[in-house]
Amino acid sequence: MSGERVLLVTGGSRGIGAAVCVAAAREGWRVAVNYASNRKAAEDVVRAIEEAGSVAIAVEGDVGSEAGVKAIFSAVDAGFGRLDGLVNNAGIVGPPQRIDEISAERLDRMLRVNVTGSIRCAAEAVLRMSTRHGGRGGSIVNLTSIAAVLGAPGQYVDYATTKGAIDTFTVGLAREVAAEGIRVNAVRPGIIDTEIHASGGLPDRARDLAPSIPMQRPGTAGEVADAILYLLSDKATYVTGAILNVSGGR
Ligand code: NAP
Repeated sequence: MSGERVLLVTGGSRGIGAAVCVAAAREGWRVAVNYASNRKAAEDVVRAIEEAGSVAIAVEGDVGSEAGVKAIFSAVDAGFGRLDGLVNNAGIVGPPQRIDEISAERLDRMLRVNVTGSIRCAAEAVLRMSTRHGGRGGSIVNLTSIAAVLGAPGQYVDYATTKGAIDTFTVGLAREVAAEGIRVNAVRPGIIDTEIHASGGLPDRARDLAPSIPMQRPGTAGEVADAILYLLSDKATYVTGAILNVSGGR
C-alpha cells in the first residue's frame, strides 16, 4: 500500500489517465485528477476513486499554458499539501497530415501541450519532491509513444517528434534527480483503444490497425495503467531512466 501518498495525473479525466487514477486509488494513493475542459468526466473519475475507498480532487488546468500549470499545482498544494507522484499523461494528436500540410499553429500547440507541458509539470513536481528542496522524494512517469520510434510517417510526424523529445527528457531528468530521491521513467504505449484516435479524426484507428500489431489487437487503457503503476510503486525502487514499451510487440 502507498499510505497517504498523493499522485497527480495530468489528463486524468479520460482514457489512459482515468485508468491510472482508479488503479492508483486501489493501491492507496490519494489522487489529483487533472482535466482540460471535460469537468463531468473528471468528476466521474473522482467518484470512481471514492468508490475504490480513496480520496480525490478534480483539478482544471491546461498543461499547455504556464498559467494552467501553475493553477494545477496550486490546487494540489491547497487540496493535499504534498506530492509524491506525477504521471505526465496529458497529450494530444492532430488529424493525419504530411509535414508540408501541418500549420504553424498546430505545431506550436502540439509542442506546448506534449513537450513544454510535461517538462513544466515535472519541474513543479521536482520543486515539491526533491530532497534538494526539502521534499521526501517521489516518482514521475511520462507518457511517450511507440510513435517516437516509428516516426508515424504520413500520419503525424509532429506528434511522434514530441514523444521522441519525451524519451530524451525521461533519460535526462532521471539522471539529473537520481540522487535526490526521485525516479523518472516512461511508458511507450502502442495502439491503445481510447478516444484519442477520434480526437485525431480516426475513430476506428485502433480496430483498423489491429492486423498490423504483432498481438493482433489494440491494448486497453488498463493494460497501460498496470505498467505505470508498477513504475510508480515500491516494486521499482531501482528502476529509473527506463522506457517500457506497452505495445503488443509493435
Ligand atoms: P485521450 O483519451 O484523448 O485523453 C486525453 C486526456 O488528456 C483527457 O483527460 C484530456 O482532458 C486531457 N488533456 C488533453 N489536453 C490537455 C491539456 N492541454 N491539459 C490538460 N489535460 C489535457 O488520450 P489517451 O489515449 O488516454 O492518451 C494519454 C496519453 O497516452 C497521451 O500522452 C498520448 O499521447 C499517449 N499515448 C496514447 C496512445 C493511444 O493509442 N491511445 C498511444 C501512445 C501514447 P479532457 O477530458 O478535459 O479533454
